[in-house]
Amino acid sequence: MTTNLTSFERAQASIPGGVNSPVRAFGSVGGTPRFFVSARGPYITDVEGREYVDLVASWGPAVLGHAYPSVVEAVRSAASRGLSFGASTPGETELAELVKARLDPAIQKLRLVSTGTEATMTAIRLARGATGRDLLVKFGGHYHGHSDGLLAEAGSGIATLSLPGSAGVPAAIVAQTLVIPYNDLDAVREVFAEHGERIAAVIVEGAAANMGVVPPLDGFNAFLCAIAHRHGSLVILDEVLTGFRVGAAGWWGLDTAAGKDHYTPDLFTFGKVVGGGLPLAALGGSAALMDHLAPSGPVYQAGTLSGNPLAVAAGIATLTAADAEVYSRLDASAATVASATSAALSAEGVEHVVQSAGNLFSFSFSGTAPVNYSQVKAQEAFRYAPFFHSMLEAGVSLPPSVFEAWFVTAAHDGAAIDRILEALPGAARAAAAATPRAG
Ligand SMILES: *Cc1c(COP(=O)(O)O)cnc(C)c1O
Repeated sequence: MTTNLTSFERAQASIPGGVNSPVRAFGSVGGTPRFFVSARGPYITDVEGREYVDLVASWGPAVLGHAYPSVVEAVRSAASRGLSFGASTPGETELAELVKARLDPAIQKLRLVSTGTEATMTAIRLARGATGRDLLVKFGGHYHGHSDGLLAEAGSGIATLSLPGSAGVPAAIVAQTLVIPYNDLDAVREVFAEHGERIAAVIVEGAAANMGVVPPLDGFNAFLCAIAHRHGSLVILDEVLTGFRVGAAGWWGLDTAAGKDHYTPDLFTFGKVVGGGLPLAALGGSAALMDHLAPSGPVYQAGTLSGNPLAVAAGIATLTAADAEVYSRLDASAATVASATSAALSAEGVEHVVQSAGNLFSFSFSGTAPVNYSQVKAQEAFRYAPFFHSMLEAGVSLPPSVFEAWFVTAAHDGAAIDRILEALPGAARAAAAATPRAG
């Protein structure tokens, strides 16, 4: 019989670590990773035929729920017309127009790529090309994909593996990246005071969600834009995770809605939801800036599968279906699960705080809410593995690391949420009984 264990053992013989992306290997929680065969709505099924309520949602893309009918139909229909042309299609423009409409007037032009990593890498090259400067500022614990210059204090995957960064990254490249603590206004002032004339861009997650969820302090993103622009530097708002998930216009939309902060990042990056579960990502900004990209301008970027018709079809169908009602359902489900989890932990006397940014949330086993990476790392992270495994045994699939956000979908109905609520007391007891691992 095919089991998760035999699947993992077989994978390990042919795939490094048995996985194609490190966090899937259960490194920080231990045990055997699940190998899945199908997913529908809020549920996902493994090779042993066990069904779980899914709170990973493909790390975000499954915003409507898995195998959402109009998305599946759009992909099926596109597939029947040919998988890839290596030439332009009308759908690419349609998707760009949908994104522009949601982020008006901040985005005038959009370039489609295949992964979030490619989007941020291109955004940085564009910022350097447009400013004629080299330095990049990033924040500790923020993840922007795995390109060389960004693997400095890059959050969950690396925190989970306890690696300082990555082997194979030239020191000369990382030297172009200045890493400062998140939510620290003085650190931002200092880095600009010292290096302002040489900084091409500062890159920041809309709200940090790759070290657990750590929202920006009120006004932080606006402050960043103001100080960067004063020094002739650009701001890249990385909404690969938050974009089209926390709201129709992502984190920027929440920040700038209803008379809150007003700020305009120079470039936005998107991924995850924008491709509806297929490999698609994007970067966008003003026409003047985006036109630095080839073939309009001198900054080179290209992709054989960029704007792939199936991925574009999935993206269009997803954004079309993700209306205001979907976002209010996500918000409500997230609030229910977050408060029930918190109550279950409190009932067992487990010290914790709920970290949330819109409908993204996670938990820190600490007495106060962390605002930066070193505070995130200081929590009692050892409580998560037993909590995670208790939930998994009870049929709830959580992110396999305490340093990841939890994701609901619009398909998480009463029945799915009840299954989560039923699993929580046992998991909270396991967290309460946890002791630090030796060594
Ligand atoms: C996931 C993520 C990326 C990288 O996207 P990939 O498609 O995995 O390459 C970049 N930035 C943020 C904020 C992300 O969450």
